[in-house]
Amino acid sequence: MRIDLHTHSAVSDGTDAPAQLVADAARAGLDVVALTDHDTAQGWDEAADAARAHGIALVRGIELSARADGVSVHLLSYLPDSEHPALAGELARIRDDRLARARRIVERVAVDFPLAWEDVLAQTGPGTTVGRPHIADALVARGHVPDRSAAFATILRTGSPYYVPHYAPDALAAIALVLDAGGVPVFAHPGARARGRIVSDATIAAMADVGLAGLEVAHRDNDPRQRERLTGLARELGLFTTGSSDYHGAGKPNRLGENTTEPEIFHEIERRGRQAVIRA
Ligand code: AMP
Ligand code: FE
Ligand code: FE
Ligand code: ZN
Repeated sequence: MRIDLHTHSAVSDGTDAPAQLVADAARAGLDVVALTDHDTAQGWDEAADAARAHGIALVRGIELSARADGVSVHLLSYLPDSEHPALAGELARIRDDRLARARRIVERVAVDFPLAWEDVLAQTGPGTTVGRPHIADALVARGHVPDRSAAFATILRTGSPYYVPHYAPDALAAIALVLDAGGVPVFAHPGARARGRIVSDATIAAMADVGLAGLEVAHRDNDPRQRERLTGLARELGLFTTGSSDYHGAGKPNRLGENTTEPEIFHEIERRGRQAVIRA
């Protein structure tokens, strides 16, 4: 069984529609794929129909934005009830502030590079969770940078004078919320040093104390030393480990199935989650 539990569609910052992504996952030989768009469940229904049509199992998930020690952290939240009022409210609050924040980044960038808010809107669809990748696409369309990666290496990097953070709940509160909604919380790419500061062992232990279920160890942004550290931490703290691609379509080099999760772990997630896994 080939299982990839972390992908993004155009409902957030991936480039493929949810149905296209699921079709590509089936074609790539995956047996199970999770759709984990940033801060939204909007792609779930379309992905579920496509999963049934293509004979692939679908795990409905969300990559929830959070913050720990002043560091932006991502929580993969598998199989939660997306209509849980507090979770739905928090997701809406994050998306709303992402929108306001993107406008502020554009205002700052526009001082030095011709760029309008409409350029960014042209890169999004209705209800899209807006992020820096869409601003990157607008900068590419304007000819300021060749691709998303170049935008993130320069104008849009965290720590750039144009950077503005967005609202995100504290990681411990976010874990409690995901659990209350029946979801299974897994810390995404916890050793991704290229993205900026990472959280300490003590913080991961505190997250485990409130119910964190797993660590995403096999991810291209965790280097070998980090994978070793995280594998040890997971064993110590009683967390399971996952591996996934973090596929973003054409928006990133990550390919579907480049890292995978063991079947036993997938079955554990399925047992713990409130939503059913979609099967053909
Ligand atoms: P934001 O959530 O708006 O702060 O933007 C961060 C998002 O940008 C992450 O979810 C990544 O998927 C994406 N990202 C980060 N670095 C890169 C990069 N070098 N190329 C493309 N996308 C990136
Ligand atoms: Fe992303
Ligand atoms: Fe992430
Ligand atoms: Zn992701």
